[in-house]
Amino acid sequence: MAARRAWAEVDLGAVRHNASLLAELAAPAGLCAVVKAEAYGHGSVAVSEAALEGGATWLAVAIVEEGAVLRDHGIEAPILLLSEPPATAMGDVAALRLTPTIYTQGGVEAAAKAVAGGSAGGAGVGSPPLDVHVKVDTGMHRVGASPEGAPAVVQAVVDRPELNLGGLWTHFAVADDPGNPFTDTQCARFDAVVARLAEQGVRPPLVHACNSAGTIAHPVAHHDLVRCGIALYGVAPSLALAAMQQVEGLRPVLSLRARVSYVREVGAGEAVSYGLRRPLERPSHIATVPVGYADGVPWRLGTSGGDVLIGGRRRPLAGAVTMDQIMVDCGDDEGVLPGDEVVLIGRQGAEHITAWEWATHVGTIAYEVLCGIGPRVPKVYG
Ligand SMILES: *Cc1c(COP(=O)(O)O)cnc(C)c1O
Repeated sequence: MAARRAWAEVDLGAVRHNASLLAELAAPAGLCAVVKAEAYGHGSVAVSEAALEGGATWLAVAIVEEGAVLRDHGIEAPILLLSEPPATAMGDVAALRLTPTIYTQGGVEAAAKAVAGGSAGGAGVGSPPLDVHVKVDTGMHRVGASPEGAPAVVQAVVDRPELNLGGLWTHFAVADDPGNPFTDTQCARFDAVVARLAEQGVRPPLVHACNSAGTIAHPVAHHDLVRCGIALYGVAPSLALAAMQQVEGLRPVLSLRARVSYVREVGAGEAVSYGLRRPLERPSHIATVPVGYADGVPWRLGTSGGDVLIGGRRRPLAGAVTMDQIMVDCGDDEGVLPGDEVVLIGRQGAEHITAWEWATHVGTIAYEVLCGIGPRVPKVYG
C-alpha cells in the first residue's frame, strides 16, 4: 500500500469527550448523536460507537441506508430517521428496527403495513409495535406536520396497534443566531402542540427540539432529548456561538493532513497554477501537495487568501486549487522538503486552522467544509 498522500485524522477520544460534555450540558435530557452524511465526513460507524461510549443514548441519520450501515456493524442503539422514509423503504425500516419520523397519514399507513408484514421485507405478523416519532413543522418549513395537523397524525399513530408513539419533535431554523427571537416563536408553537396532545390524553415519551445550537443557547428547550451534530465534532454551529463557554470546552475531532510531494524554486514574475493569477513578486519555493478540490479543498480557497501549515508556520496558497493538487508559497524558506507534513485543517505546533476559517474564506459554513471532504481521503482513527 502506498504511503498516504492525504488523510483525515479522526480523534475518537475527542468524540467521547464532546459527547460526555454535551450529555452533561443536556442532562436530565438525553443526547442523540447526529451521524448522518458519514457523521459529517468523520465516518459514521466509528463516530457512533465513540459517541455512545461518551454518553449518547440515541443516534440519528438522514436516510434508511445510513441506518442500515450502523445495524450491519452491530450497533443496537435506537436510531432515529430525521425525515419520513418513502413508503417503499418502510419494510427495511421495520426489519432494521429504525425509528422513523412520520408526518403524513400516508406515512402512518406505510409504517403500520410494514410492521404487519404487508410490505416486502417487513417485520411480519406478530412483531412488536414499531416506535415512531412525529415531527411538527413549527417554522423551518422543510418537513413536518403543521401545528394544526400534527395532533391528527399523532392520533393516527396512537390508533394503530402496529405502531407506538415514541416521540414528538421539531427543528429550529435560527437557533445558531442567539439574538433571533424566532426560536422563541418556534418553542411557543411546539409547546402549544404538546399541550393540545395532553388535552387529548397523549403524552409522547420523548419530546425533542434542540440541535447543537439549541442545546448550547436555548436550555429551556432541552425537553427530553437533544440532537447534536456539529458540536459532537467539536465545531461551533455558527461564529456567533463560537465564543460561548459551552463551545470552548469542545475539542475539534477532525484534522486534514497531507505530505509535500514536490518542491522547486519559481522565479519572480512567474505565476502558479491554472489561470496564472498572481505573479510572484520574488523568487519563491513552491511546495506541491497532493490534495485538491476532489478531496474537499474548496477551489475558492486558492483565490481568497487560504493558508496551510507546514513546519508549524502559516503559508499561503500560491494559486488556484486544482482537482488533485495544491501549490503552497513557501517564500524564501528552503527548509520545506518533500515528505513534510502539511496541515490543511487542524493544529501544527502553535498554529491551527479551523473548518470555520475555510468557510469564512469561501463563503460557506463549517458543516459544508466537513461534509465536503471527499471519499478519496482515508480516515485514520486515533
Ligand atoms: C442535522 C440535524 C440535526 C443536527 O444539527 P447540528 O446543527 O449539526 O447539531 C438535528 N436535527 C435535525 C432534524 C437535523 O436535520
